[in-house]
Amino acid sequence: MSVFTSLLQLFFPRECLSCGALLSEQDKEICHICLSRLPYTTYKLDQNNDVYKQIIPFVEIEAATSLFFFSKQGMIQELLHQLKYKGHQELGDIFGELLGKKIQKDLPEKMFDFIVPIPLHPKKLKKRGYNQLTLFGKQLANIVEAQYEEKLLYKKTANETQTKKNALQRKENVKGVFGLHSSDKFIGKHILLIDDVITTGATLVEASRELKKIKGVKISIATIATADQL
Ligand SMILES: [Zn+2]
Repeated sequence: MSVFTSLLQLFFPRECLSCGALLSEQDKEICHICLSRLPYTTYKLDQNNDVYKQIIPFVEIEAATSLFFFSKQGMIQELLHQLKYKGHQELGDIFGELLGKKIQKDLPEKMFDFIVPIPLHPKKLKKRGYNQLTLFGKQLANIVEAQYEEKLLYKKTANETQTKKNALQRKENVKGVFGLHSSDKFIGKHILLIDDVITTGATLVEASRELKKIKGVKISIATIATADQL
């Protein structure tokens, strides 16, 4: 540790965003104890998990996965809140690394050409200052050797929040909200579409349908978390 970083640690101690414990210099924003206790799924990026099963009745995809289980008042809910609303973008980087390494271990061969996030409406982006998926997607792309593409999908209309809606209302609420800035470079490519949480899957289904307008394109899906089945 350099004198400078030691001094920084002394005067500006960093705290774990999950439990509040003091972080060591090696830790990123989550301490190693919390990292080991996060509710990881055992899902691989394949067709043998609930995320895939949730999407496949509505749109054809190749494979799907989620890194964590999401439960109300759980660690992931709190961390996603910090990522989305408290300016802690760097958490996306940690999640991107965790998911990227997991995918790399399960699928050693390069599978994806592009990583594409669910877009925010420009107004929302301006208000928040960042898309919570940017660092997640960039880190993931880096590890699985794909290209990160934030501008392929865009949000046409600022739909109401999905939070308080039931499955049918969610489906109606997202109908036609996405647009495509496509170009020939995406034809016949494999795109990994990413989002923070999958609940009913309505948003991911709608976005996948939009992406499917590209000739010969293949879609897979990965999210940071999936709603707990309990
Ligand atoms: Zn902690």
